[in-house]
Amino acid sequence: FSTVTVLDLPFVKTTAANFQQTIQQRIIAQQNTFVVTANPEIVMYAHHNPAYKQLVQSADFITPDGIGILDGAKILKQPLPERITGFDTLIRLLQWASDNHRSAYFVGAKPEVIAALKQKLPRDYPGLIIAGIHDGYFKDDTAIIADIQRTQPDMVFAALGFPKQEEFVATHRHTTKGLWMGVGGSFDVLAG
Ligand code: UDP
Repeated sequence: FSTVTVLDLPFVKTTAANFQQTIQQRIIAQQNTFVVTANPEIVMYAHHNPAYKQLVQSADFITPDGIGILDGAKILKQPLPERITGFDTLIRLLQWASDNHRSAYFVGAKPEVIAALKQKLPRDYPGLIIAGIHDGYFKDDTAIIADIQRTQPDMVFAALGFPKQEEFVATHRHTTKGLWMGVGGSFDVLAG
């Protein structure tokens, strides 16, 4: 994709549908991929935190997850077609995974949310292979990473909030050949 840079972050200039298709093709091709769906909070936090900005810049794709980013691009006279949100991307990938028997690993959210998700995911996405599912309140990620390494999921979704989830993903993404993505508070919504 071509990109439009807003506050030093290169945003993909494409539609949500095209983006989705590219991610799915990369998963099929076993290309390691780090996606940041950057909302305005993430963009502003990165603006004030150089180390975090570097982590976000290390992503393969940064998508505009907010109208404010589209407005910024428009002011630069390089408009972006539409928002590509973390939640919508997650939902579409889960549906695709269900239809194609692909696997996902879920890390993040509170234990009670994870308990609800364990009930709900197999009902909503019967073809989805749940490689693993773990809450986001661990002290040491060694066991979780070993589990991800062992199960080799097509997708790892980290719902740890920022900046934690990007730190987690940037550190461990090469444990698999698949997709890694931070999804903020999405598990709470999914489980609700
Ligand atoms: N969370 C977590 N571990 C932590 C801190 C947060 O798993 O140490 C989870 C929290 O339970 C919630 C999500 O991360 O599900 C963050 O949600 P929030 O809406 O605060 O983050 P944002 O969407 O703004 O990144």
